[in-house]
Amino acid sequence: VPANAAPTDVLDLAREPRLVDLIQQVLADGARRTLHLERMEPLRRTLALAGSTLGTHDGAVIVVRDITESEQLNRMRRDFVANVSHELRTPLAAIQGYAETLSDGAIDEHETALRFSQRIVDQCRRLAALLADLLTLSRLEGKEALESLEPVDLRATANEAIELVAGQAAAKPVTVELVPGPSPVVRGDPEGLFRLLSNLLENAVKYNQPGGRVEIALGLRGDQATIEVRDTGIGIPGSALPRIFERFYRVDKGRAREEGGTGLGLAIVKHVAQAHQGRVEVESELGKGSTFRVLLPTERS
Ligand code: ADP
Repeated sequence: VPANAAPTDVLDLAREPRLVDLIQQVLADGARRTLHLERMEPLRRTLALAGSTLGTHDGAVIVVRDITESEQLNRMRRDFVANVSHELRTPLAAIQGYAETLSDGAIDEHETALRFSQRIVDQCRRLAALLADLLTLSRLEGKEALESLEPVDLRATANEAIELVAGQAAAKPVTVELVPGPSPVVRGDPEGLFRLLSNLLENAVKYNQPGGRVEIALGLRGDQATIEVRDTGIGIPGSALPRIFERFYRVDKGRAREEGGTGLGLAIVKHVAQAHQGRVEVESELGKGSTFRVLLPTERS
């Protein structure tokens, strides 16, 4: 903008009265000023403006930085802290409630004391599961590649994961079957891959119907190993599918909590797959069941 142009001419460049105000204020007293602008049109953008005078020259300089992405990251971090606090508060409040009732006299009633102390243990387990998942996530986060790689036999890992969910499956009851086929081996993190498989299996059992089935199929497709976990469960509505890998997202909050979920299981699955340069896909039909498919490269440079 030419030095002799009146500040209002700037409106022709950007239809933003606050930009003109900023220029006028800077020109009026020469003080440096900053301003944050939220623009909705043509795109949603967050802009950071800094204005100061041009020293001895007549005029002002305005630097505009697009900080949309860093603002988004900040918002996600704030949301995450708020979510974690909320998730921690619920079991803590329950523990406090039971403990207070016990110390207020319920401890003398044997039956009640037994029931309440069992609930305290349950809530402590929930807290421990939540903390374990949070630690796993922070361990995986931001890892472009894994540090220690070992050959991992996916069939053996799947069998271990099946053992882990055997009790839950029998209680439902749901049958869990590992389909015969190839035994892919990937170079990766054994602990992470075990978590990936057990989280998918746990969900396939938890969100299933009594008498339902879970199948795990392992395969090789070119230089990719495939893991498919299919269930005959409640399914996931199409509108929720893009969100289920988000931290703390649950389709049915009541049911997910009742089943003892942390809301972090699929976020961990996604992170483990990505840390192995792989990806996760999901198909689901409401009331019929879901299929989660993980693709992992078998060879890496
Ligand atoms: P949670 O601890 O709640 O199970 P996850 O991150 O593992 O958390 O899953 C997120 C949500 O996705 C669950 O709350 C559930 O609503 C849905 N979901 C995950 N797996 C399945 C499945 N196999 N069938 C139906 N819904 C599922």
